[in-house]
Amino acid sequence: PSPIAVADPQVAELIDAEIVRQHDTLCLIPSENHVSPAVLAATGSVLTNKYSEGYAARRYYQGNAVIDRVETLAVDRARALFGVEHANVQPLSGAPANLAVYAAFLDPGDTVLGMALDAGGHLTHGWGVSVTGKWFRAARYGVRRDTGRIDLDEVREIALKERPKLIWCGGTAIPRTIDFAGFATIAEEVGAVLAADVAHIAGLIAGGAHPSPTPHVDVIATTTHKTLRGPRGAMLLTREQHARAIDRAVFPGLQGGPHDHTTAAIAVALHEAAQPAFSTYAHAIVANAVALGEALLARGFDLVSGGTDNHLLLVDLTAKDVGGRVAAEALERAGLVGNYNAVPFDPRPPLDPSGIRIGTPAITTRGLEPHHMTDLARWIDDAVQAVEAPDTLDRIRGEVTELARAFPPPA
Ligand code: PLP
Repeated sequence: PSPIAVADPQVAELIDAEIVRQHDTLCLIPSENHVSPAVLAATGSVLTNKYSEGYAARRYYQGNAVIDRVETLAVDRARALFGVEHANVQPLSGAPANLAVYAAFLDPGDTVLGMALDAGGHLTHGWGVSVTGKWFRAARYGVRRDTGRIDLDEVREIALKERPKLIWCGGTAIPRTIDFAGFATIAEEVGAVLAADVAHIAGLIAGGAHPSPTPHVDVIATTTHKTLRGPRGAMLLTREQHARAIDRAVFPGLQGGPHDHTTAAIAVALHEAAQPAFSTYAHAIVANAVALGEALLARGFDLVSGGTDNHLLLVDLTAKDVGGRVAAEALERAGLVGNYNAVPFDPRPPLDPSGIRIGTPAITTRGLEPHHMTDLARWIDDAVQAVEAPDTLDRIRGEVTELARAFPPPA
């Protein structure tokens, strides 16, 4: 029995139940993944016992000789993988990393320009319910109604009018390639700091399946647990010129002690992401998403922007006459775990929007290939048409579980 089963059978039982859930269903949430056994082991290591406020060789606690080497390894690997001058691997997650960008470059009340949440941006890019929308003056850009894509001419117009000190590009529901160079031209024209939030696509960038923001932006913010397939954590990658501001914003600006077990797991994930097999993985994620998009289009689904360049699809269910929330619940019963999501210009409320967001990082980790996407699209189609037919959903779930068990997660 595991130490958890001995010490706390209740929690052990819950973890076992989650293992079964993950094995027997297919995860289509684009921001989730299945980490390797090595990443999982590092996350569960004794490094969790240590306090190490500060940075390597500048700690406020004794006993950090090993931790210094762990953090330096993670930092060096991040710099090499993304070709940046400076890396901070301490942000506790994506939202705290983004807050550190504000703390580094802005004063309260300054203007930030970010992508609207309902167009695919993230809460922390200045949305009203986030402190980033309360403590800063937030302006926003969206996508064009006719193309579902960002229109850089429109972004430029808004930037010239609003004069932001910080511009965010990247987001949480953007199915298309981000034109970092185009954003850089605008940021330069208005004298703004340009931040790329590549949380979703960091693994694609590392694997060469999406262009890199590195030459174009002042700071790259990313989580480590999505396509990058590491532990839950985040990194800020910058030019040397901004290193001090970013480091001071993270600690002591916003955080206390870093999570050293996470840092070790980030180092492992970065090592894995630097292998040739990871590049194959990154390209396979995109190939699967493209194949799934084509199979869904063939079944009469509408996709925002008409398809995808990356790991995710934003499916507009209006034509199928079903709400996103009901659809996501039906899909879960059928063993296909995605999430409901607003589509641009959504007439429905945020808690029951018109779309679902699905992605291929996790199923690609399990080894599914483009030829499996026809079955997946058929199950999705059948499930959204059977939201009131539990028997049909259970029948689909049987088929989904059979495929899921044939492609178990790595850990
Ligand atoms: N940035 C983007 C683009 C995201 O999609 C997310 C999470 O979904 C975050 C930041 C926030 O990350 P976390 O949930 O780790 O705080």
